[in-house]
Amino acid sequence: MKEIATSSRTRDIIRKHGFTFKKSLGQNFLINADVLDQIIEAAELDETRGALEVGPGIGSLTERLAKAAGKVAAVEIDRRLLPILQEVMSPYDNVSVVHSDILKTDLRQLWEEQFSGLAGVSVVANLPYYVTTPIIMKLLEERLPLENIVVMVQKEVAERMAAKPGGKEFGSLSIAVQYYCEPELVCIVPGKAFIPAPNVESAVIKLKRRTEPAVNVADEAKFFHVVQASFAQRRKTIANNLSSLSGKDRKGELSELLISCGVQPERRAETLSLQEFALVCEALTRSGM
Ligand code: SAM
Repeated sequence: MKEIATSSRTRDIIRKHGFTFKKSLGQNFLINADVLDQIIEAAELDETRGALEVGPGIGSLTERLAKAAGKVAAVEIDRRLLPILQEVMSPYDNVSVVHSDILKTDLRQLWEEQFSGLAGVSVVANLPYYVTTPIIMKLLEERLPLENIVVMVQKEVAERMAAKPGGKEFGSLSIAVQYYCEPELVCIVPGKAFIPAPNVESAVIKLKRRTEPAVNVADEAKFFHVVQASFAQRRKTIANNLSSLSGKDRKGELSELLISCGVQPERRAETLSLQEFALVCEALTRSGM
């Protein structure tokens, strides 16, 4: 039998089950074997490792993961896909389908139930684009014991995650991702690789989890708060944006503080490196701002 990620088998499965796509759930199913090869290679799986898939759809990626990993747990929100997945995954005994919204799933518990005893776990998914950022942030912030995140996202989102300081793509998402991971663009994927074809380009990005965060900060919540405040209005200078934290009456002091960190007050947030944000954050804390 042909693999699920082919146009003919995908259409057969959809027709047989009378499935209709829900745009609101970001349902665009992958039908390109070359792209799947690249995703699987980037995920670095073997039989000692597990894979968490977000949104298996009708199982095109799930099937490949079942062959490459020791265990696959696939979290799907759409109840209508469960009988389809049960049927198409019946040849594989290492796949569990969990009916849940990934954003409401207790991932620590899922890890214990699905992945205990494995050498490592990667998240591998063709993400629903309407919730890409919340899903990525949940995976990063919960500090799960995961090795890699290999995900298909909208091309612009991949570019923002991998952006270096200095360009307009660099922002708080770049900093959050790069604080925890090393991003690497795997490939660009055209709309015709999916059924139905989305009218945006996509990209596969690999986020390799760092053993230690990229910079050392005493208070992570404060660091991300400073980053958010710095980007509040992108056209404003760093000093103007950060005056929301220092208070207007301490603006002179804030300018001196920035200069002491090697950051000219008239720079814009998008030009600061993670190290510079960390220095500014520590200095703000020391001066009670
Ligand atoms: N993995 C399949 C593929 O590559 O063909 C489907 C990918 S499709 C882009 C996204 C999938 O995520 C859909 O199956 C959709 O129902 C599911 N989904 C959407 N929102 C979700 C959520 N909050 N939690 C879990 N799954 C979700």
